[in-house]
Amino acid sequence: MTVDQAATVVAGVLGAMLGSFLNVCIHRWPREESVVRPRSRCPGCGQTIAWYDNIPVVSWLLLRGRCRHCRSAISAQYPLVELAMGGLWAFIIWRYGVTWQAVSGGVFFSILLGIAMTDAREYIIPDEFSLGGLVIGLLLSLSRGSAGLIDAVIGAAAGFLLLWTVGAIGKRMFKEEAMGGGDIKMMAMVGAFVGWQGVLLTVFLGALLGTIVFVPLSLIGPKKLVPFGVFLSLGSAATWLAGSAIITWYRMTVLEP
Ligand SMILES: [Zn+2]
Repeated sequence: MTVDQAATVVAGVLGAMLGSFLNVCIHRWPREESVVRPRSRCPGCGQTIAWYDNIPVVSWLLLRGRCRHCRSAISAQYPLVELAMGGLWAFIIWRYGVTWQAVSGGVFFSILLGIAMTDAREYIIPDEFSLGGLVIGLLLSLSRGSAGLIDAVIGAAAGFLLLWTVGAIGKRMFKEEAMGGGDIKMMAMVGAFVGWQGVLLTVFLGALLGTIVFVPLSLIGPKKLVPFGVFLSLGSAATWLAGSAIITWYRMTVLEP
């Protein structure tokens, strides 16, 4: 096994363990509960879950998705988030090596997954993900020196102002809350990771995806609340991975053909 392959495997295992913690955040932060205490319990019988029953993915499979004590079902969401996080961190280390860029991308994608889950489940984007992520994004930008920090601050300001403006206009036009405060704080965080051009691309992609998915749904069923954070998360991920390529393509073919 080469050093790179070993690093990829280690990143996958650590990612799955982080995924286990992310599950706790996804469940507790929307209820403003601590993620440190108490230890995880079975929602069915209240038994504290032992460490050997809390091994990412493996324990869920061995117990066939049931509590060891009362046999009540444990949601498949737990192993799926752990699996996604393991795959995500393995991919990012495989693709970018053990670099600050990889760490930054891994942290960013983990936050986005957390936001997508809480917004899809409960229409909430906890401040711990948005504002906490903003602080982490600004700190990580320092790995690219003061220029990196300036980019991140401008990006965060752009994300905040753009969504705040869209929200203010929407409120005036439709007399309805068009943009939640959670979306505004989320885009400040996203801006710290992808810069101001990335903010524009993210919002464009998020709105496009949201329209493609939700317009057909609203035509066939009753009016639904749109978890915009889910689509902004997908747009953010695409922007982080391919944003500079898309922006360069746009400049060369649309702006200066
Ligand atoms: Zn139980």
